[in-house]
Amino acid sequence: MPLKKNYHMHTELCGHAVGSIIDNVNMAESLGYEALGFSEHAPLPLEAFNEVDNKRLYAYENMTLDIMEHEYIAPLKRLQEQEKDKLKIKIGLETEFLYGYLDWYKNLYSKVEYLILGVHFFYKGDKLIDTYAEINHDTMDYYAEAVEKALATGMFKVLAHPDLYLYDDIALDSKAKEVADRIIDACAKYNVLVEINCNGKGRYPRPDFYEYIKNKPVKYIIGIDSHDPKRLAGDHVEFSINLAKRLGLEVVDEV
Ligand SMILES: [Zn+2]
Ligand SMILES: [Zn+2]
Repeated sequence: MPLKKNYHMHTELCGHAVGSIIDNVNMAESLGYEALGFSEHAPLPLEAFNEVDNKRLYAYENMTLDIMEHEYIAPLKRLQEQEKDKLKIKIGLETEFLYGYLDWYKNLYSKVEYLILGVHFFYKGDKLIDTYAEINHDTMDYYAEAVEKALATGMFKVLAHPDLYLYDDIALDSKAKEVADRIIDACAKYNVLVEINCNGKGRYPRPDFYEYIKNKPVKYIIGIDSHDPKRLAGDHVEFSINLAKRLGLEVVDEV
């Protein structure tokens, strides 16, 4: 059965997705969605990035604060009102957590209805580590640290693709299990939903990760993480739904 509510998705505003806000609303309505939450990649404090990191981490591609106000939040507020009898629209953001920028995140949090944490890069000392390219047994403790520090702020509703630290095909050994314990225990402590992401193209969600954490006192949410309206339904979504069913995970559908 297709999903009726999804709170993790992107639009062309992030620079690496296709489809406008309206394209996604139209697609969701045609698929019979009841609720749709936009969680665009949040503006980044570019002063935190040197020139190399800026390019390496595509930081410059994220929407600016100005674009967020005028081309993201404002049209979404209009659509919330306009579509309210057909589709419940929520306005969120997906953010990283850069240390020393708490006020930046507080400001973002004040503008939207929910924040999702997605740790695509994180600090090891003063060096920024790219999760996709540089995650390994020497860096994964710092991934856990970023998750713990971010969730402790109380601003996040969902931890997106928690198993991203196993990218790409890192074994879930005793070290990796320690990291799983740290990040999922933080979700339990701060009442944060653990996402089962649908956009890992075979690399995540990692069934062994969810099998390992399945007895922890947390709730789960399916996050499509679509970067194209066409991806709001399909086998990638069914895979995550079925994984949750098979493991008996408690899935909620509200953020
Ligand atoms: Zn993205
Ligand atoms: Zn995302």
